[in-house]
Amino acid sequence: MAPSRTILIAGAGIGGLTAALTIASAGFRVVVLEQAARLEETGAGLQLGPNATRLLIGLGLRERLEPVAVALSCIRVRHARTGADIATLSLGDTIAARLGAPYWALHRGDLQAVLVEAATKHPDIEIKLNCRVEDFATHANGITVEARQSHETVDERGVALIGADGLWSAIRGRLGHPFTPQFAQHTAYRALVPADAVADELRSPQVQLWLGQDAHLVHYPVRGGTLINIVAIVHDDWQEPGWNAPGTADDVLARFSTRAWGRDARAVLNAAPHWQKWALYGLPALRRWGQGPVTLLGDAAHPMLPFLAQGAAMAIEDAVVLAERLVRSPNDIEAALRAYEKTRAARTARAQHAARRNGGIYQMTGLSALARNSAMRVMGGPRLLAGYDWLYGWRNGTS
Ligand SMILES: Cc1cc2nc3c(=O)[nH]c(=O)nc-3n(C[C@H](O)[C@H](O)[C@H](O)COP(=O)(O)OP(=O)(O)OC[C@H]3O[C@@H](n4cnc5c(N)ncnc54)[C@H](O)[C@@H]3O)c2cc1C
Repeated sequence: MAPSRTILIAGAGIGGLTAALTIASAGFRVVVLEQAARLEETGAGLQLGPNATRLLIGLGLRERLEPVAVALSCIRVRHARTGADIATLSLGDTIAARLGAPYWALHRGDLQAVLVEAATKHPDIEIKLNCRVEDFATHANGITVEARQSHETVDERGVALIGADGLWSAIRGRLGHPFTPQFAQHTAYRALVPADAVADELRSPQVQLWLGQDAHLVHYPVRGGTLINIVAIVHDDWQEPGWNAPGTADDVLARFSTRAWGRDARAVLNAAPHWQKWALYGLPALRRWGQGPVTLLGDAAHPMLPFLAQGAAMAIEDAVVLAERLVRSPNDIEAALRAYEKTRAARTARAQHAARRNGGIYQMTGLSALARNSAMRVMGGPRLLAGYDWLYGWRNGTS
């Protein structure tokens, strides 16, 4: 295919790979440049609401994803000290019947592997590993990207560049955005535990969300139910960037005191001998994403705090909308990119805001926590879930 139909993507994360598939299906050739030498299993659990699973199923990936996904039956909100249920939001058949798609939990590595497999099979997608995008120059016919591959500098030409290069996006910096991610004063500890090593209760296909003092705990099964993903989020001032710093069980247990965290909640923490941790960073919503033949996608455009479990889902939505805009204006790529940004800006800003707000709600203390728990009890699961219709009920073509 002529270079004039080539779109370059920086980053082979969930966003970049999904965009490769959607853009190739829109009739373009795609070259994905990824800095990592191998796309090995990194990260742990991800939740994907119906807004995202619907799109992955639409890409023909249901058969490959279903064996590794866990269809979640509910989100169970629990009191950290007493273990009592505060509210239960039914997912399972309820959400599938209402919104037409399941709510899944997946290991990030499994989702990435399925996307890589589909991209590798696609004749119009090429993935170049060990290839770090460093700069770009725009010209009359599109764009030339300069990347570092091993010790060499390589140039790639195309009609557009999509910066899907994550939270610390080099493309965002190169576009002149003045902001860098701000530390959100929290650390997320995560662990993966074999399902056959834990109590029955942890194995059930539920998201369990435990609300405690200045901390919360989330767990759910992944990899077809064979692993349990546990995430413990605490206030912290440790702010090293990256996803995989080691944490210790002692560190984690020390932050979940027996005074505020009852036996059941601590049993979840005790199930995990090995932990990793990452510092949470956020970014205010950007006023403008791209410029000329360059745009941003996923965390590069709108990093999400994990309190809404929508980082991957928003990147997947971006990928679908971007391809759809390219189909509408195949001969005016810049117009397509601006239309994509305009379509996505308000929704992703709303999700960023909702994630930040949830973080505050989950970690309330004292009287505020009591009021929160009573309000959740009074509202009940169905009304709490209906409050997320704007999120999970989204379909391409709605804003
Ligand atoms: C290693 C890792 C582990 C993660 N673990 C979790 C987790 O356990 N739970 C969770 O909820 N979320 C996790 N996330 C975040 C989650 O994947 C994202 O929030 C979401 O999927 C949106 O993805 P994205 O594609 O926009 O960005 P990312 O998933 O961050 O992907 C960005 C990709 O771009 C590549 N890249 C960066 N800079 C360059 C460059 N200059 N040139 C070329 N390539 C570049 C990166 O190597 C990466 O592959 C993780 C992300 C990463 C990268």
